[in-house]
Order: sequence, then structure tokens, then C-alpha cells
Amino acid sequence: MSNTNDIYQDALNRLRQMGQDADVSPEVLDSLMRAEVVVTVSLPVRMDDGSTKYFTGYRCHYNDVLGPTKGGIRFHPQVSRSEVQALALWMTIKCAIAGLPYGGAKGGVEVNPKALSPMELERLSRAYVRAMADFIGPDIDIPAPDVYTNARIMGWMMDEYETIKRRRSPAVITGKPISLGGSLGRDEATGRGAYLCIREMATRLGWVPAEIRVAIQGFGNAGYHVARLLQKDGYRIVAISDSKGAIYSEEGFDIESIWTHKMQASQVQGVYCEHAICELVEHKNISNDELLELDVDLLIPAALEGVITTKNAANIKATHIVEVANGPILSEAENILLERNKIILPDVLANSGGVIVSYFEWVQNRSGYAWSLDEIRARLEEMIVKAFNEVWHTSMHEERSLRSAAYTMALRRIGDAVAAHGTREYFKNGKK
Ligand code: GLU
Repeated sequence: MSNTNDIYQDALNRLRQMGQDADVSPEVLDSLMRAEVVVTVSLPVRMDDGSTKYFTGYRCHYNDVLGPTKGGIRFHPQVSRSEVQALALWMTIKCAIAGLPYGGAKGGVEVNPKALSPMELERLSRAYVRAMADFIGPDIDIPAPDVYTNARIMGWMMDEYETIKRRRSPAVITGKPISLGGSLGRDEATGRGAYLCIREMATRLGWVPAEIRVAIQGFGNAGYHVARLLQKDGYRIVAISDSKGAIYSEEGFDIESIWTHKMQASQVQGVYCEHAICELVEHKNISNDELLELDVDLLIPAALEGVITTKNAANIKATHIVEVANGPILSEAENILLERNKIILPDVLANSGGVIVSYFEWVQNRSGYAWSLDEIRARLEEMIVKAFNEVWHTSMHEERSLRSAAYTMALRRIGDAVAAHGTREYFKNGKK
């Protein structure tokens, strides 16, 4: 599905279903059935051989009722207008659940960044900001890293924005290098947030970590940190994959050494890793599809959207799924999984650690004061555990899935903000 154009439609179908469950006013739901702004641009980039190539870029401001919009920028060949809108909608829901003063946004460029030289990548990053400079800003829309973008790219983007605006403006973008105004703890934040959610879930389910076998699909930044933290607590990580394939070992992997190998094998410039996971350690080679269907206790999709579909949902054996990727399970596939009593911790909660620490970075940039790593971690824990507790409580007490509970919370919060401006009820009754 990730390479089709239906992902936004799927996201809207799910939203409609969740809206009915949450019993929110049709006005609120209606306001979320469309994006506020979707910009498409063509980005001319001078290649190293002197030629010019054109790349298509997008930025979507989905909904800003709760504040300036927030969301990452993705560099990937599968980026499309549909995908960017779906991701921006999910950011809207995610920020509302975490209680952040943000609406949702997302951006992307249709490109295979691994095929670009570091200088081409820098020119592309700067071209994106030149095209979007009027649509982003600390009080308008604040980008961040996403799939195949990183701190270095955020640094180039901030620099380009400041050059255009002729003033310092670090709060325009988050996920920057620490030396350029980034926040401590932002690099691990998505993985740590997911880990904290799993820890909370484990306490409620009475899990003994050593008995829990985990499969992780996607070994990028988020996949690595969640795997590392789980292993530290004694969980057995029996399978890991990247875009080239998957590895399996019944005894479990040592995450740090796999990550070190993967990083050492990266390009000299250190922008992207060249080596595949399958080349690294003693293991059995399996495919990404086989990994998803492994008989494990915890499956963590941490790559792209749409990997669990109606085609494989009936074959998923994991009893618990934690969505570290955005949108890995399509809506109809989720219904199949729920009928089979699977417990799914949804993306809009499980991967919200990234945007929560992005918010801390933005606050630090605006106040001109940097927090310690301990403070960042403590504040992240406080916010995400609070959101987890609220979602879990709503799910248990209102007898709905965790995703339905999460959407309910988000829609009620967004609904309150919509109502504060006055709804049909208010104007119809002529109240003052
Ligand atoms: N791209 C991340 C996400 O999907 C982080 C967004 C942000 O930090 O603004 O949540």
C-alpha cells in the first residue's frame, strides 16, 4: 500500500470511523476531513555533473486549531501528495493526544536520497526551504526530521531559512544538531517514547521481559533506540530488519553491536548507511514479510506505512503490536487484527516521543535556555506516560480499542478548541 495513492483515503476512512466511536460533533469531524493547505513545488537542484534535476516537494498544513502546525519532512521515493496529507492528519491527532500547543503538518520530497552525493543533498535541502520559506516559521509551521532526513539536513534547512529572513530563527525547525540549537535527547526521543509506552503496557499486563520475544521491522533511528532500551530491560530481540532484508536469531541479538556495525559501514560523510543488516552478524536470513508474520509476543513496525494489509493481517501471529512507524496498519487490516484479539498500541501515541521532544526544543529555542538531558528525559516521561494512562483508561472504561481511545481524546480536545470559537449550536441559539 505504501506505494499506492490510497493512504490518505484510508486515513480519512479511519478518522470517520473513529469520529463515530468518539461521538464528536459533525462540525469537528468535518473540519478534519480536509487539509487546510497543501503546497506542491518543483525543486531545481544542480547535480555534481553540472546538470539540473527537478524534484517534487510537498508541505501540508493539515489543521491549526490547536496552534502552529508541526511535522517532519520525509525524503523518500514513495513520497506523494496523498502520503503527505495522511501523515499531516496523523500529526494533528498526535499533537492533540500529547497535549502539545500544535496543529499537524508534514512535508516531503519524492527522491531517493541515498542516490545523491552529500553536496546534492545539501542543495536539495536548501531548495526545499527556499520554496517553502513563506509557509514555515516558528509561529506558522515548524518542520522536523522524518524518514531519511536527519539533524544535519535540519541544520542546512535552518541555515537557509535564516539566510532568507536575515535573522536568527532556530525555532523554525526542530531536530537540529545540538551545536546549532538542537535539543539533547531529540535523537533518541521517538524510540524512548515508544519504550516508555511499552514499559507502561508491560506493567499492566504483568509481563516478565525475559519471556517476551520481540521482532522489529525497520532499524532506523527509532527502531534502534526502542530495541536498545528494551534489550537493556531484558527483552529478547529475536528479529530485526531494514529495507534490504531481515535477520532472525532465537537467542536474540545484541543491539549495540549491530548498530555499531551498521554505522561503521556508513558512507565516509556519514549521511546515510550503505550496508544492509543482513551482512552484519550470525543469523538466519528472512524477508521483511516473514518478519511481520513471526510467532513473537511483540511486533514493532518501525519503517513505513501500510505494511500490514488485508493480505497479511490474518497471518500476523504477534499478540501485541506497537506502531513506531506512522500508519503501518491499514484500517481494514486493523479490524481483522482486533477481531483476532490483538492489542495494538497506535502510532499517534507510541511514536509521539519525537514530537514531544521537538516541542521541548522549540520551547528552549524561544526562551534561549538549554535544558539538561535528565530534565528532557524526565519531562518526556511525564508527558507520554500521562497520555498513555489517559488512552489506556479510556480504552478500558469505554471498552474501545487503544486507537479508538486515542482518537477520542484527540477529537475531544480539538472539538473543545473548535467549540471555543462557537459552533452551530451556539450561533443558532443566539447565545452571548
Ligand atoms: N517526524 C516525526 C513524527 O512523525 C516527528 C515530528 C516532529 O518532531 O515535529 O512524529
